[in-house]
Amino acid sequence: MKASAFAYARATSVVNALELLAAHGDKAKVLSGGQSLMPAMNLRLISPELIVDINGIAELRGIAVRGDTLKLGALTRHVDLMRSPEIAAHAPLLARAIAHIAHPAIRNRGTLGGSLAHADPASELPACMLALNATIIMRGPGGERRMAAEDFFTGIYETALSVQELLVAVELPVAHKNAAYFFDEFARRHGDYAIVGLAAQAIVKDGIFADLRLAFFAVGDRPVLAKIATKLVGGEVTPAILSDASMALGEQLDPQEDQQASASMRRHLAKVLLARCVSALLGRPDLKAGGSA
Ligand SMILES: Cc1cc2nc3c(=O)[nH]c(=O)nc-3n(C[C@H](O)[C@H](O)[C@H](O)COP(=O)(O)OP(=O)(O)OC[C@H]3O[C@@H](n4cnc5c(N)ncnc54)[C@H](O)[C@@H]3O)c2cc1C
Repeated sequence: MKASAFAYARATSVVNALELLAAHGDKAKVLSGGQSLMPAMNLRLISPELIVDINGIAELRGIAVRGDTLKLGALTRHVDLMRSPEIAAHAPLLARAIAHIAHPAIRNRGTLGGSLAHADPASELPACMLALNATIIMRGPGGERRMAAEDFFTGIYETALSVQELLVAVELPVAHKNAAYFFDEFARRHGDYAIVGLAAQAIVKDGIFADLRLAFFAVGDRPVLAKIATKLVGGEVTPAILSDASMALGEQLDPQEDQQASASMRRHLAKVLLARCVSALLGRPDLKAGGSA
């Protein structure tokens, strides 16, 4: 199948892109890497009348460290994040996660902003944004808006972006000296979308979590920052404490059933990932089985 007929405009600047979006409203779509937009158009799931190509806007690209903040342009491609020394030093979780996104051809074109704006609940990068406590930066007719990643994702393929706004950048705090990271997912084949995944950031001091952010994905309509992390912070994690946290996780998550997995299988896999994560971050092989009540 081929896409319906559409008009094409190559935006020359952010201001120009915003003018085009303001003029055409919900009849226009932004084109970034095109790795989700073009398949959706070819399948005629969507039929925009105008494509606003932002690939020529240099100010939307790049990775910069300013003081304690890492700023990532929306047009930064997956492959550039994966190979960046700044990401390796300050946000290594991203490089680990991107290794699980599809295959090189898709990572060569797909962008950070496109992945976040697309908001597939089984995507790796939205969950990483929650784990890393990211701020999403948007620009629209009313100027710039900044929002915590936790508030940005509002449903399946839904975000806080309006049709007249562009996602322009993301800011992350640079890695703390005691930071540790975990990323893992279950998928049918490497590169497939996850059945269940977990991206986590922790601060570990003397074998104890001083902070822990657990972002699960493919367990609901958006990535989920697990509240049960508080049960594991501030004291020694015993098998009984982990078992209690694991049970509470099962209650907090509300996964959906699809052709890949039932809701109960997804809950089970999330608990397996929790145990692997806590065991790996604390260097405690005794916790890998998930603890016992
Ligand atoms: C075969 C295949 C396998 C894949 N597997 C995975 C996977 O395992 N994990 C995963 O996470 N992804 C996967 N993807 C998707 C891939 O990561 C895409 O790159 C990503 O979802 C969208 O990024 P993009 O830059 O290509 O965005 P586009 O396709 O250009 O755009 C996606 C959507 O976001 C909007 N948009 C884009 N940029 C902006 C912006 N700056 N501001 C506002 N709106 C914007 C577009 O209008 C569109 O609605 C896969 C894709 C394919 C084709």
